[in-house]
Amino acid sequence: MTVAQKRDYYDVLGVGKGAAPDEIKRAYRKAAMKYHPDRSEVADAESKFKEAAEAYEILSDPQKRGKYDRFGHAGLSGTAGHDFSRMRPDDIFSIFGDLFGSAFGGGGRVSRGRDLQTEVVLSLKDVGKDTEHSIEFEREDFCDRCAGKGAEPGSDVRSCDTCGGYGQVERTSGMGFFNTRVVTVCPECRGNGSTFSKACKSCHGRGRSPKRRVVTVKIPAGVHDGQGVRLRGEGEPGENGSERGDLHCYVRIKAHPYLERHSNDLVCDIPISFTQAALGANVEVPTLGGKAEVTIPAGIQHGELLRLSKQGLPDLRTGRVGDQVVRVLIEIPRRLNERQRDILRDFAETEDKRVLPESKGFYEKLKDFLAGIGED
Ligand SMILES: [Zn+2]
Ligand SMILES: [Zn+2]
Repeated sequence: MTVAQKRDYYDVLGVGKGAAPDEIKRAYRKAAMKYHPDRSEVADAESKFKEAAEAYEILSDPQKRGKYDRFGHAGLSGTAGHDFSRMRPDDIFSIFGDLFGSAFGGGGRVSRGRDLQTEVVLSLKDVGKDTEHSIEFEREDFCDRCAGKGAEPGSDVRSCDTCGGYGQVERTSGMGFFNTRVVTVCPECRGNGSTFSKACKSCHGRGRSPKRRVVTVKIPAGVHDGQGVRLRGEGEPGENGSERGDLHCYVRIKAHPYLERHSNDLVCDIPISFTQAALGANVEVPTLGGKAEVTIPAGIQHGELLRLSKQGLPDLRTGRVGDQVVRVLIEIPRRLNERQRDILRDFAETEDKRVLPESKGFYEKLKDFLAGIGED
């Protein structure tokens, strides 16, 4: 398309030269609905649709509209943001996403709503399987009374003076050559493009009020403490009808009284007596599901580990299940009665009483070490 062949943008949208931003927006929405190529019966709908989108892009932007009013199409050559001739309808909708809200996806020029954070507390047992949790949280949401407009129902609504109805203002910051122009949401009308004579009684003109909401969040098995799940579109609504933010739900895992998580393994300490260690025994250990009986082999040493295969937690990605690791702690009796002492003395006579075999090396090394200190 060359510049000379282009139709007047106001004619394309069927509005007058002095049309207010609201009117332009309405006209474009009407044209977009009428010519949307997926729906329209009109011949040449796609090119009409693109033409309307281009006209709207220029006329909805105060700077571009000003240039167009003064210089016509020639004033925009080289500055127009997009080459619409090669664009598919979907892409156009993504540019004008703010107009249609999230139904058409895509980020418009108005920033999306705030993200929120919340927490879900799981037991270690919950981590063993996929779980669903109901979360209640509060968010700033559209006010019911004024449908988010901020105006008391029935009050006078008119175009905002500060932004001329565009919902955006441009300010210049910096000095000399380094001036930068920043477009922001209009502080007067907060992007609505309109102001009102009477503020809504319920929200005092903010258009928002805090609301409680309950959502269900699915937490996958094997999740780790501090990881989060994002619920798209569960945050706060954006300005001027733009997309909602997201809700980030962070996982906290409660400590278990007996089991400690090491990656996908579960570790527990089990105290046993020295006779159980020497002779072997069957003992009960706590597990995620309840308890299990574990056979302690005779002659086990203090701190030795026993593994209960696949009694741990599933891996978040692979689903492979870890082990439960039982660490044996051998307790030496602090007090013995007369009979026990006699039995142990008898037992000691059966041993090599000078030193135990494993201890022997230790004491010989210690003797060398102590002798060495004297020489320094
Ligand atoms: Zn304004
Ligand atoms: Zn309200």
